[in-house]
Amino acid sequence: MVFVDKYAIREMNETIVLEHIVNEGPLSRAAVANRTHLSKASVSEIVRKLTETNLVHEIGIGDSTTSGGRRPIMLELNKHAGVSLSFDIGYNYIATMLNYLDGEIITEQIIEDIEIDRETLIDKIENVVMDYQQMIPETSYGIVGITIAIHGVVFDNSIVFTPYYDLAKLNICETLSERLGIPIYIENEANLSAIAEQTYSSNYKNLVSISIHSGIGAGIIIDGALYTGERGFSGEIGHKILFPDGKPCPCGNHGCLEQYCSEKAILEFFNDIHQSTETTIAQLKSAYMAKNPAVIELIDKAAKYLAIGINNVTTAFSPGVIYLKSRLTREIPDFLDKINSNLNSFINEDVELHNSSLGDQATLLGASAVSIRNFLRIQSMRVQR
Ligand SMILES: [Zn+2]
Repeated sequence: MVFVDKYAIREMNETIVLEHIVNEGPLSRAAVANRTHLSKASVSEIVRKLTETNLVHEIGIGDSTTSGGRRPIMLELNKHAGVSLSFDIGYNYIATMLNYLDGEIITEQIIEDIEIDRETLIDKIENVVMDYQQMIPETSYGIVGITIAIHGVVFDNSIVFTPYYDLAKLNICETLSERLGIPIYIENEANLSAIAEQTYSSNYKNLVSISIHSGIGAGIIIDGALYTGERGFSGEIGHKILFPDGKPCPCGNHGCLEQYCSEKAILEFFNDIHQSTETTIAQLKSAYMAKNPAVIELIDKAAKYLAIGINNVTTAFSPGVIYLKSRLTREIPDFLDKINSNLNSFINEDVELHNSSLGDQATLLGASAVSIRNFLRIQSMRVQR
């Protein structure tokens, strides 16, 4: 017989009650008891504790029961009990977002065109946190957690591999949590985008979010949980080999998908067409709209290559929906349609393909969900912002 002490059970029940209130609230105590199969007495006791600690609050009066019973008091997550702070460390920018505990955005900022290097990054993050601490609204818990998105492979709160900046094995979590006294989490950027879709937008339990920036990465949610594999390399679809013996890639292989159709790769191809060393998506878009034949060919090819990557994702995971997080597929008018027209196999028939409804905010919103879930100690969070 497995021995579980009563405190562990009480804690587990607290988590279950809170999860229902967060995801389905406002709920009455009776409705919580119903959904959790806990006794009304247990629910009342747990709710007393959750209200005392300010995590849950009572709001007004719910609808009266059909049998004419007393109108119940409704319970809701006290979203103003604390805030989450999130960072997205791009290869030349730091974006941040401050959220209440239901994901509501309080403010967001971006520092652009900066050098990201392992010598100064931790200090830079610390400075931004200090600035935020001057301006955060007054709450019971203050900043409940800081989640940092890394464009590279992250596993078990440590950085394994970053192809476009040098942060591997940098001890961000321990150093910052010691300095700031706040829990620090790091996660792969695409994984966070997938968590954002799951938390704030999608009804699918099996979904993939593909981020197309400097590289190409996928966040994979299977049966409602993030799938990272044994060492964190799952979802590194930018390094699927498209052309054996093709262009060299920082991962050590040749011909990787992201060398042909990441945002960075596409803009590099466009540099040649435009005879420039640095081009923008806006310039690419206007050349495409002006029907520049070389640009149309470039986009057609990229759509074909991305479709190959997407087809591979579907054969591996069979998701219900795939979200693309990419400025290119959002900005270039029929890019998404062109990708779709290359997905002709019956394998892809029932898989929805959309631009992320959360757009550029997906990564930071996913990061907020990680901080909030850890703070509330709940497994799943599904909220309407
Ligand atoms: Zn590679």
